[in-house]
Amino acid sequence: MAFAVSTQALAAKVALSGKTLNVRKNAAKAVRNTSVRAAVSAPAGLKAGVVTGDDYKAVVDHAIKNGYAIPAVNCTMSTVTNACLEAAKKANSPMIIQFSNGGGAYNAGKGWKNEKDQKAAIMGCVAGALHVRALAEFYGVPIILHTDHCAKSLLPWFDGLLEANEEYFAKHGEPLFTSHMLDLSEESIEENMEISKKYLERMAKINCFLEVEIGITGGEEDGVDNTDVAQEDLYSKPEEIHQVYTELNKVAPGMFSVAAAFGNVHGVYSPGNVKLTPSILGAAQKYIKEKEGLDTDKPVNFVFHGGSGSSREDIREAIGYGVMKMNIDTDTQWSMWDGVREYVEKYEPYLQGQIGNPEGPEKPNKKYYDPRMWTRAAEESTVARLLSAYEDLNAMDALSK
Ligand SMILES: [Zn+2]
Repeated sequence: MAFAVSTQALAAKVALSGKTLNVRKNAAKAVRNTSVRAAVSAPAGLKAGVVTGDDYKAVVDHAIKNGYAIPAVNCTMSTVTNACLEAAKKANSPMIIQFSNGGGAYNAGKGWKNEKDQKAAIMGCVAGALHVRALAEFYGVPIILHTDHCAKSLLPWFDGLLEANEEYFAKHGEPLFTSHMLDLSEESIEENMEISKKYLERMAKINCFLEVEIGITGGEEDGVDNTDVAQEDLYSKPEEIHQVYTELNKVAPGMFSVAAAFGNVHGVYSPGNVKLTPSILGAAQKYIKEKEGLDTDKPVNFVFHGGSGSSREDIREAIGYGVMKMNIDTDTQWSMWDGVREYVEKYEPYLQGQIGNPEGPEKPNKKYYDPRMWTRAAEESTVARLLSAYEDLNAMDALSK
């Protein structure tokens, strides 16, 4: 299979020269056994590094039990990914690193056109995941690897990612990615469930989790424009969420999460357009608990999309209704730029040519225009923004809870 060969090629590139990813992984394991594991606090007892299957489930259960949600950050390049890892370590808390279709294609290098077969997006996501896998254990916190919205037209991307997972599973006994999102919210709920169930069945075999979406997240993200949809479509009904719960539970109980619509909007707009109504999620949990005669108050794991610009109060309310993951994209797009903006403002006279600055016409400017300087400024600004997100999500120092 052509794709398998290219994944191996990538793995070889990620590993040290001449060594296989396996050797790298064993080395990382050895380090973890001596020092990194100790960095994860004993009370939480969660695995450090990329978590999948039961290790991932333990992280989600820990979040729900302790009333926090995990930030899920859209990554497009190693600078963003490393900022996520650094923030997770500083916050002593789990992190979800995710790639959108466009983010994956960007990570593959924009010299490639992402054709209908989605090869560039697949390879970029795989490369991003291998980068994270090579580093995550050294950061000493649980890291979840995920991909974002996959609409029906992008299913070849999803197929390619699952092939990469299956190939990784055959070698390592776990999938490359922890979970993936299928977003068939634009189709009828019947078709959404039919396709989602088919994929979940395949994913459950390799311990890979599924996130689905129903209803519509307003706004615009990654080329999908929902700025003009009817207001009523921005709010999911308890009956619809119940339908998703029962259908997917038949296939793989507990192996899915639901992005429901409760007035959330992608992007940041002036306030007042839509009213965020987290209680919709609470009403659905209650409805499902009663219909199914369950003991638990939160049968559904909810995901919060389009949370940029939400108040801490609304975020915490949503967490109270079973939100265990909140996506962050727009706010870290801004923090990346804001770091560069501040850097350029501060060092402007040193950034106008290779030689010559206020200290003298022959003074070199190499140490100011080195990309490591201004991308580091972007990283620092993004780490700060993510630490504030951890606070919003009640997830600061979560591993000590
Ligand atoms: Zn989203």
